[in-house]
Amino acid sequence: MKNNYKLNDLVQMKKNHACGTNKWQITRVGVDIKIKCVQCGREIMMERIEFEKKLKKVLGGENE
Ligand SMILES: [Zn+2]
Repeated sequence: MKNNYKLNDLVQMKKNHACGTNKWQITRVGVDIKIKCVQCGREIMMERIEFEKKLKKVLGGENE
């Protein structure tokens, strides 16, 4: 369930980003995962295993 994410999904991580929000959009799924902070637009890339460790919740598609 938790790992049921796909490209463009919004996700919540365990820690807030420095800008104060905790909503990210997945912009790349591959060996590495790239997520973009929906508030400040900062993008970070990390290994899939690290992403899944830090992932709190998958919020689903953009319309939710
Ligand atoms: Zn941010």
